[in-house]
Amino acid sequence: MNDETREFDVLIVGGGLVGASLALALGRAGLEVALVEAHPLRVNAQPNYDERSLALAHGSRRILDAMGLWPLVSGEACPIHTIHVSDRGHFGFTRLTREDEGVAALGYVLSARVLGNALIEALSGVGRVHLLAPAELRDFRVEGEQVCADLTHEGKALLCRARLMVAADGVQSRVREQLGIATRQWDYGQTAVIANVTPDRPHRNVAYERFTDSGPMALLPRTGDHCALVWTLRSDAVEELMQLDDAAFLARLQERFGFRLGRFRRAGSRYAYPLQLLRARQSTAGRLALIGNAVHTLHPIAGQGFNLGLRDVAALAEVVIDAWRDGSDIGGGAVLNRYADWRRADQRRVVAFTDGMVRLFSQNLAPLVALRDAGMLALDLCPPARHAFGRLTMGRAGRLPRLARGLEL
Ligand SMILES: Cc1cc2nc3c(=O)[nH]c(=O)nc-3n(C[C@H](O)[C@H](O)[C@H](O)COP(=O)(O)OP(=O)(O)OC[C@H]3O[C@@H](n4cnc5c(N)ncnc54)[C@H](O)[C@@H]3O)c2cc1C
Repeated sequence: MNDETREFDVLIVGGGLVGASLALALGRAGLEVALVEAHPLRVNAQPNYDERSLALAHGSRRILDAMGLWPLVSGEACPIHTIHVSDRGHFGFTRLTREDEGVAALGYVLSARVLGNALIEALSGVGRVHLLAPAELRDFRVEGEQVCADLTHEGKALLCRARLMVAADGVQSRVREQLGIATRQWDYGQTAVIANVTPDRPHRNVAYERFTDSGPMALLPRTGDHCALVWTLRSDAVEELMQLDDAAFLARLQERFGFRLGRFRRAGSRYAYPLQLLRARQSTAGRLALIGNAVHTLHPIAGQGFNLGLRDVAALAEVVIDAWRDGSDIGGGAVLNRYADWRRADQRRVVAFTDGMVRLFSQNLAPLVALRDAGMLALDLCPPARHAFGRLTMGRAGRLPRLARGLEL
């Protein structure tokens, strides 16, 4: 028996970075939104807002700006002026620069914790967003023109009704599972180890992506003198790396990365994340839309997961708000189809690009190594190909939602 019933326009399940961003976009436009999150949504209390560094594409900065979030984080966001991609021990490399792309920065590096805390702060100023946290979705069903969701909120049962429910509940999405939506999944057998490291040469706002025979590593520039390391290894090699003391860890890193940044002097705490690929076959069902990791979970090799999720947010918010303003059904088939059709190509392209990179750079077969190095060199020498690559990594490919063009909703 439910103790209480509440009604909203939109119910979002999952208050990770993607769900919280959608709540902010919809709430600012005037919709009544419930954001349901299993962990407390307080500053420094949500474990998904952790120390991982996110490379935010140029397009994501625009979205965050149009949502009024950028001023809250810009002081901590380090601009990327150059992206340098290379293959350890081989000749191939390519470089993207902000000058070539005609932008102030190719992207920005920011920690998930800073961005998450800013989202919490921004959400607290939007009266139409109701934070239900800690709360958990138990069950849901469609009844007529509403979705009914059974939650546990602060130890009590709560029934929520909404015209649209959005699953932003991450890779293990319970909503996706309950709907029986098929997925394509691939366990790479790889784990990412992240840490902040301090080299003795300034990073000069260069992001390095270096492919090595034991897995790719990225060194992203951070504000101050340090860099964020994302080092991908075979999962069975991670335990040993995690156990090394800092000096041995830095020596191993030096040997893999080389001396482009001089000597590595300090390392912060290390964290490990097992990696997989997931792509759901559908991003909508009756009165339901899936966004973020619930619909696509990527290897972090190309730093695209959150960027792609944020574009889901921008597109879904736009179609929902447009429908709401002209009095249409915000959870109806027309709105959901517009969202699914709009997002299909971008999701497919970024999943294929990321997965292709992981597979290509996991190969040590001589002909494939030669081919990828030739490809990188060709990219470096051919401006149109490089611009196309740049548009993709900057989140500027395809038809852009209003938020991604820097416009208010
Ligand atoms: C090492 C690493 C580096 C990365 N680097 C980058 C990068 O440089 N650039 C980039 O764009 N992306 C990057 N990513 C990807 C990015 O972190 C993710 O794409 C993004 O955080 C996904 O957010 P999400 O909100 O969709 O999912 P999640 O963060 O998984 O959030 C889902 C939320 O739903 C909640 N939840 C689940 N089930 C329920 C339920 N039943 N009831 C209530 N709540 C529920 C969970 O508690 C959780 O808070 C990286 C990822 C990793 C692992």
